[in-house]
Amino acid sequence: MTAATDLVDRFRFVLVRTSHPGNIGSAARAIRTMGFTRMELVTPAQFPDREANALAAGADDVLDGAGVHDELANALAGSSFALGLSARRRGVTLSELSPREAAMQALAAAARGEQVSLLFGNERNGLANEELARCHAMVRIPSVDDFSSLNLSQAVQVMAYELRVAMLGETPAVPLPTNDEPPADAAQMEKFYEHLAMTLDDIEFHKGRAPTTIMLRLRKLFQRAQPDERELRVLHGILADAQRMAGLAHQKDL
Ligand code: SAH
Repeated sequence: MTAATDLVDRFRFVLVRTSHPGNIGSAARAIRTMGFTRMELVTPAQFPDREANALAAGADDVLDGAGVHDELANALAGSSFALGLSARRRGVTLSELSPREAAMQALAAAARGEQVSLLFGNERNGLANEELARCHAMVRIPSVDDFSSLNLSQAVQVMAYELRVAMLGETPAVPLPTNDEPPADAAQMEKFYEHLAMTLDDIEFHKGRAPTTIMLRLRKLFQRAQPDERELRVLHGILADAQRMAGLAHQKDL
């Protein structure tokens, strides 16, 4: 396998809650024309489907290899850098990149050995806040304000094209990894967020307020930090101690 093939294999295109099987086929074609092969589907309305194969126009290998998942977390397994494509900002703001900037960052992550996920939302609703919260940044294709939403597969094409151009260009200046610990993957981050949410409950942090917004803000903070596995172990340790102390305090109160 050449180095370039290795690099290409570190990218996956994740289509979330896709309504139209035709769009899945067109997206497969878009991906394949730019040299990528990996597609992951999260609760597609209809798949496999004849329409998908028809519009894939020969990119059946991408469709045949596509994983189908009940949960976004499973589609992101093993990936440590995720970008969410969205026509508009919403809720808790993530940093916003152009497709070109996103391609450079994604390529740099892949060159460091990380697996990269590119997330695309449902045709009508786009990506939900909870889905964007799994991402390290948002990517917006700079369409016009009063008609900003591209067809799903065309958005896939734009992103795949920018990645291809970035890969064909000069090798980006890849920052050397700062340590040998692997970055935490999406599943490990989810486990951490669950532990964090439980601990916040245990220490009665919320005081009657809804936990949703604070959890989205904390996710944003930790996604930006991109902790490695060792750092996550330390954070889990701190949370476990906080839970233990909360338990002791609770016993005293009884
Ligand atoms: N009405 C939805 C648009 C859904 S289009 C919304 O406002 O989000 C389906 C998907 O295509 C989106 O979820 C997104 O992943 C991608 N997409 C469409 N237009 C885009 C744009 N201008 N920039 C980035 N992604 C876009």
